[in-house]
Amino acid sequence: MSQSITLKCSSKTIQEMNATYQHSLVKTPPYAVFSAKIPGVSITAYNSGKVLFQGVSAESEASKWGTSTPTTQKKDSSSSSLPKDFANWSVVGSDEVGNGSYLGPVVVCATYAKKEQLPLLKELGVKDSKMLNDSLIRKIAKDLRLVIPFRELIVTPQKYNDIQPNYNVNRMKVALHNQALYLLLNDLLPEKPDGILIDQFTTEKNYRSYLKQEPNQVTENLYFKTKGEQYHLSVAAASIICRATFLEELDKASKELGILVPSGAGTKSDQAAAKILKKGGLPLLEKYAKLHFANTEKAKKIAFR
Ligand code: MG
Repeated sequence: MSQSITLKCSSKTIQEMNATYQHSLVKTPPYAVFSAKIPGVSITAYNSGKVLFQGVSAESEASKWGTSTPTTQKKDSSSSSLPKDFANWSVVGSDEVGNGSYLGPVVVCATYAKKEQLPLLKELGVKDSKMLNDSLIRKIAKDLRLVIPFRELIVTPQKYNDIQPNYNVNRMKVALHNQALYLLLNDLLPEKPDGILIDQFTTEKNYRSYLKQEPNQVTENLYFKTKGEQYHLSVAAASIICRATFLEELDKASKELGILVPSGAGTKSDQAAAKILKKGGLPLLEKYAKLHFANTEKAKKIAFR
């Protein structure tokens, strides 16, 4: 069973942990000191001194550092429940992709799926994009772009690197979802959707608090659900369109550079980034990579050893 354990640790212990997990570090989330992934457990240490262990081996790994009571992970961390029959409403849905990928942009998309169009969307093969391979995603997205209203925003790595120091990941996502929703709702006027479903990435409270810093705030009729694509086809469609755009952007980058630019944040990304560094140094890499990822240091080691 998946477990989640939190320990309160001294900064000295967190330093030791950081050293211990040195070779398994992954992207550091906002407010964290480090984040690491080893088989069966992910470990994230926060500035507050809290260290979160998650996964099937959470308990045994956490016990190496201290003791705490395990809590079984909640099944559904969503903050809002949806009205009955929501799946058959006319809904604007939004989703994003690319935040976890070292190379390539972040893409956010909002779509409008009217209830009359839901059967068509099903027929086109719209479903959870995690169940679709890349070539199907590209094919379905092509059809979708012709049949439903949508808005998408692409944050190039260069732009991402500009704003990332001032925007933590969630604030950036709020700004992007809100802007895509705002543009799409304007396109639809005078028509209004029955509801707006955001594929949830933070609590509704956090979302609304970041929203206060944004222009053009969309505040009404919002619903939040993790795995939103399972609750309305609009989110599934948004997810397919932004995933396809993300893949197209990687294709474009691969062509420009003459090397294969992969998604993800693993060793393939390190290798590709090392090649980019050798070609044009950091000024070139910053056009293609999210520089604050740990991959940048790994790529430098590969390129300049
Ligand atoms: Mg999502």
